[in-house]
Amino acid sequence: MSDIIDTAQELQLKQVNIQPRDYSTPSLSECEECGNAIPPERQKLGAVTLCIECKSLEEKYANRYR
Ligand SMILES: [Zn+2]
Repeated sequence: MSDIIDTAQELQLKQVNIQPRDYSTPSLSECEECGNAIPPERQKLGAVTLCIECKSLEEKYANRYR
């Protein structure tokens, strides 16, 4: 009987290790730049550190270097 319990625990551990998202950086709830709240829908993308405004500004500046 103990073998069955061990197997069940192993399976549970494996399920915990398999996460749906593989982003190493978690999203912030507030913008790194201006401190504005980042919408939860945006946070779900993972590794989100900027609000929509700052992100679009950043992209504008990034385009200047091209
Ligand atoms: Zn911002």
